Amino acid sequence: MFPFYEGDVYRPPSEANSLIIQDTIGCSHNRCTFCTMYRDKRFRIRPVADVLADLDAARPWAGPAPRLFLADGDALIRRTEQQLEILSHIRKTYPDCQRVTCYASPESILTKTPDELTALRKAGLTMVYLGLESGSDTVLRQVEKGVTTEEMIRCAHAVHEAGIELSVTAISGLGGQALWREHAEQTGRVLSAMHPEYIGLLTLMFHPGTPMTVARDSGMFQPLSPMEVLDETRLLLQNLSSPGSVFRSNHASNYLNLRGTLDEDIPALLDLLEKARAGLLHLRSEQYRAL
Ligand code: SF4
Repeated sequence: MFPFYEGDVYRPPSEANSLIIQDTIGCSHNRCTFCTMYRDKRFRIRPVADVLADLDAARPWAGPAPRLFLADGDALIRRTEQQLEILSHIRKTYPDCQRVTCYASPESILTKTPDELTALRKAGLTMVYLGLESGSDTVLRQVEKGVTTEEMIRCAHAVHEAGIELSVTAISGLGGQALWREHAEQTGRVLSAMHPEYIGLLTLMFHPGTPMTVARDSGMFQPLSPMEVLDETRLLLQNLSSPGSVFRSNHASNYLNLRGTLDEDIPALLDLLEKARAGLLHLRSEQYRAL
């Protein structure tokens, strides 16, 4: 009987009202030093028949025109002909479906040809979510992201050439004290080159048992204070130009909520950061931060 999910299920904040169907289980990479999302799962691609059965089972209560989010961490990695079969079934079963989205890894995007990505878009895939995390290759190596910024930029171009929208997240504080300037400047630069429709800025959380938390506790990684996170965000925005992108830093992990359309709202966002640094705006306290 649906809903039945395997383990914890994660989705972007903007998919809060979406029907979530597990297309894959876990994350195909699963090695980033700060992340616990899918640590308890061994990555696998579910049989197509199981995904179609979930789509059928959810139909009676899904509402007339749902949005669909294909979980878990990397639904795009499935072979294209199988994905087309799933998207075709969504069209048949949910004819008024507004949009279909999923998380995608750089590997899953870069192994698809332009024709395959275009076929997926024509079959109904409207947007993919991609975790950039940092525009600094040094930071990406340190957190074992397993990908370079040049590959991230190529991903963005491939997705856009196929007509698929892109939502990209980065993580404040990921460079720590040692690399905060490089992290801010390079993340602004790489996001500008990717020019996604949506940019989400989260703030680093320390989960028990992760290599990142062990590094912090041993003094190898020195985290930023809330005020230093604001300084880093200011520097990132000063290095960012992505006209038309919706910028959001209003996640439960963030100290300060920011939202605007680039580039026109950058001065207003910088003004809010100045007010927060002057103590005129409330910052989310550590105990209320969450993923
Ligand atoms: S951050 Fe993303 S790619 Fe890295 S382990 Fe977590 S889910 Fe996988």
